[in-house]
Amino acid sequence: MNRIYVDNAATTKMSKAAVAAMLPYLEEGYGNPSSLHTVGQQAAEALFKARQSIAESIGADVKEIYFTSGGSEADNQALISAAEASARKGKKHIISQKTEHHAILHTLKKLEKQGFEVELLDVDGDGNVTPEQVRDAIREDTALVTIMTANNEIGTIMPIKEIAAVCKGKVLFHTDAVQAVGHIPLDVHDIGCDMLSLSAHKFHGPKGVGALYVRKGLMPSCIIEGGAQERGRRAGTENIAGIVSMAAALKEAVEKIPENTPKLTAMRDRLIEGLSGIPHSILNGSKNNRLPASVNMCFEGIEGESLLLLLDAKGICASSGSACTSGSLDPSHVLLAIGRPHEVAHGSLRLSLSEENTPEDVEFIIKSTKEVVEYLRNMSPIWQDLQEGKRKYVIQ
Ligand SMILES: *Cc1c(COP(=O)(O)O)cnc(C)c1O
Repeated sequence: MNRIYVDNAATTKMSKAAVAAMLPYLEEGYGNPSSLHTVGQQAAEALFKARQSIAESIGADVKEIYFTSGGSEADNQALISAAEASARKGKKHIISQKTEHHAILHTLKKLEKQGFEVELLDVDGDGNVTPEQVRDAIREDTALVTIMTANNEIGTIMPIKEIAAVCKGKVLFHTDAVQAVGHIPLDVHDIGCDMLSLSAHKFHGPKGVGALYVRKGLMPSCIIEGGAQERGRRAGTENIAGIVSMAAALKEAVEKIPENTPKLTAMRDRLIEGLSGIPHSILNGSKNNRLPASVNMCFEGIEGESLLLLLDAKGICASSGSACTSGSLDPSHVLLAIGRPHEVAHGSLRLSLSEENTPEDVEFIIKSTKEVVEYLRNMSPIWQDLQEGKRKYVIQ
């Protein structure tokens, strides 16, 4: 079957450049960069070049990049670093917001148990936080503000440059930019953030590798103890093949932004238009201020899981949007935060495109989703009640 993959917010297919960059370091370039001999030093050289390239791709300095095992680790390290540095000064208040990724939310929960006071700001119906909200929440004892660049479920892009500006000189600002890096133009100096997380597998690089940008003058805490790798801030023999591949993937992704954005945006908007034709459906996230490849819709009277399985049977690989971990049937915290009631939040569909998708794919997805939603609604007693007026529609 010809599969249509539209789950790029979950992970992406590696680009040819990323695979090609990796191979030599799985074969002859297997050295440990800490070794003094030639094979080791060749690996050290590759590591340095990759660090330089990644720094350049986000407007950072080579000394400001710390490699990690991915976005989750970068988020953990950023939050723990800021918390530890601030705790020494007696600052115990952390500001974030409700639609963050669990790598942030669960780390904040842990910090809360250690005595930090975490304040999660509400978002508006589009999933946005304003700089004014952040400004009003900052206190004398605020240690850190962490607000994501773009949301992984609903695609809303946050005003992080303006948020960074209200934090400047007062409090550290970290942004989880995992969904944004390689997809929209980003420059750490332009943003004015102190720390930024990124992950290779979200921009056509390999899984299990990422980076934390830490502004010069700040020192991240070491959360993995051992050797002196990453300037003593993150122990463990470096994932050279992964890091080199991440650098190649990021360089290519950034270069392709101008060419890909109009194509992706056109397909995204056509999907939104087509799917909005389904009665009692609603777009989740901002209409215009969203990632170029991201669509998220709710359809009343259906279960997202059934929709996904039936779409999969038609060759469409999509997502409900919630990183619904094993056994959890809780609706997405993001959809609840933007005001969707439980029963509606359960009927969500996230489609995240890549440059491999075509306008033909888009038309097939629209047609298939219409068929599947209609089929599921016809079987649903709740839908029956809605139609007979025994229940009120939540989505008009
Ligand atoms: C995917 C993702 C992460 C986690 O990154 P991993 O590399 O999978 O650990 C963190 N934050 C956001 C916004 C993400 O989309």
